[in-house]
Amino acid sequence: MKRTLVISPAPTANGDLHLGHIAGPFLAADVYTRHARAQGRQVLLGTGFQDTSTFVTTTAHRRGVRPSDLVADSAAQIASTLHTMGIAVDGYTGDGARFTGWVLEFLGRLRAAGRLELRRVKFPYSERSGRFLLDGFASGGCPHCLAEGCAGLCESCGNLVCAGDLIGVRSTLEPAEPVTMREAEVLVLPVERYRDRLRAHFAAHAGGMRPHMAQAMARMLDQPLADFPVTYPVGWGIRVPFPEVAGQVVNPNAEAVAWSMHCSALAAEGRHGGEVAEDELWLAGAGSEIVYFLGFDNIYPFAIAAPAMLLAFDGRYTLPTRYLTNEFYELDDQKFSTSRGHVVRGRELAAEVPRDVIRFYLAATSPEHQRTGFSRQGLTRVAGLRLVEPWNRVAERANRWAGHGPLPVSARSRHAGARMAELFAAAYDLDGFSLNRAAEAITDQLARLDGWQADDADAGDFCFEVGCLLRAAAPILIDLAAAVHHDGDPAADTVTPVRLPLLAGP
Ligand SMILES: [Zn+2]
Repeated sequence: MKRTLVISPAPTANGDLHLGHIAGPFLAADVYTRHARAQGRQVLLGTGFQDTSTFVTTTAHRRGVRPSDLVADSAAQIASTLHTMGIAVDGYTGDGARFTGWVLEFLGRLRAAGRLELRRVKFPYSERSGRFLLDGFASGGCPHCLAEGCAGLCESCGNLVCAGDLIGVRSTLEPAEPVTMREAEVLVLPVERYRDRLRAHFAAHAGGMRPHMAQAMARMLDQPLADFPVTYPVGWGIRVPFPEVAGQVVNPNAEAVAWSMHCSALAAEGRHGGEVAEDELWLAGAGSEIVYFLGFDNIYPFAIAAPAMLLAFDGRYTLPTRYLTNEFYELDDQKFSTSRGHVVRGRELAAEVPRDVIRFYLAATSPEHQRTGFSRQGLTRVAGLRLVEPWNRVAERANRWAGHGPLPVSARSRHAGARMAELFAAAYDLDGFSLNRAAEAITDQLARLDGWQADDADAGDFCFEVGCLLRAAAPILIDLAAAVHHDGDPAADTVTPVRLPLLAGP
C-alpha cells in the first residue's frame, strides 16, 4: 500500500463541534494519523462539514435563523474547534461548486450505467405545509428496533429507516399537524443486488470491526436489503439535473462515497499540493488503504450504501477495509444537545485547560464500546491523578539533570524503551486501535516512573525512559512532545537530558 486515507464523516453544519464529536471519531483519527506518520507511512486525514442534512433546516427553524447563515457560522466554528483541539486535518470539505458538481457527476455515472432505478415510494406528507417529511422532518419509532428517533438513519440500531416506515410517524417541527402518506417517484440504488458481494468483502477484508458494528453488519447483511433512495422530493440539498426526478435533491446519505473521494482529493492537495482528480486515489490499483473513524450511527451510509455504489462500478474502485466505530459520548450522563445548550465546546475548554490534558481525558474516556461521558469533575480528578500530578513530579525529578550529560543508558533501559514503544503501538495500530488503552499505557508508565527514586547513578536510565514515554505518547500529548527535543536515537547508549515543561492542572 502506498498510502492510507483516513476519513471521518463530515459533521452536520448545524452548530459547533462539542466534546462528544472530538472524543468519538476525530481524536481517534488524529491520533492514528500521527502514529502512522511517525512510523514512516504516508497518511492523509480528511473531514469537513455537511450542509445538506435536513437537520440544518430543522435547527435553523428552531433558532429562527436562515439555514445558510447557520451553515456559514457552523462551518467556521467546526474548522476552528478541530484546529484548537489539535486535530490536524489535511483536507476540509465544504459546500462549494467543486463538491456539488462531483456528487452529481458521480451519481450521473451510476445513472448512465443503469445502476439507479426509478421507484414509487410512499413518504409521510404534511398537507398543511405541502412538504414531504423525510429524515429530520419525520419522527417516530424505528421499524427495526422500536427506538424513537428521526427518519433516515436510526441512531440506536444503525439501520436505514424509510420515513414511510416509522411507527407513529409525525412532523418533527409540528408534532400536532396531521400527517398523510403520499407517493413520489425517486431514484434508488437496489442495494440488495450487492449484498452477497458486500458480505464477501467484509468477510475477506474488513477485519478489526468493534463488536457492536460487527453484530449490526451481520444482522443487516443476513436479510434482504431495502432499496436505498438516492434522490429525495424535498427542497434542501443538492438539486439533481435528472429529468425523471425533476426538482428533487440528492439524499444526503447518498453523498457518502462521492464526499469521501472529494475529501481524499482535498487532503492530498492540502498535504502535497498540486491538483488531484476527485476519484484518483480510489481507483483500483492506486495503492490506497481506506480507513474510516465514525460514529456507530453512520455505518449504513458508509459501510453499506457507499461500498454498494463502489461495487456498482464493476471493479473500477477500491473498497474501504477499515471501520473504527464509536458510541455516544455524554455530558453529565445526558446526551450532548446543541439545541438545549447542553454542551461543552472544545474551544472554550481549551481556553482554560491545556489541550494535552483534554486530549488525555477524552482518550481515557473515549466511547469505544459503550456510551461514556464527560464531566468537569471527572476531568479534574482523572487527568489530575493519572497525568498532571505524576508527570509534574517526574519532570521535576528529570530536570535535576537537564543540561547534564551525555549520561550512560543501560541495556536494561534500552529494552524498557523498546517495550514501551511496542506497548503503545499495539494500542495505535488498526488491528487493536484503542484510545482507552493508549491513555492507560500513559498512566501505567507514568506511575512506574513516578515511583522511581532516581539518583546520579541511574539518572541516564531515568531520563532516557522518560524520553521514550514522551515519544510513545506524542500522538496524544502533542504539545508536550513538541516542546521537548530529545537527542534523537532511541537506541543510543547515552542520553543528554533536556528541560521538560510542567503541565498546568485542569
Ligand atoms: Zn433502530
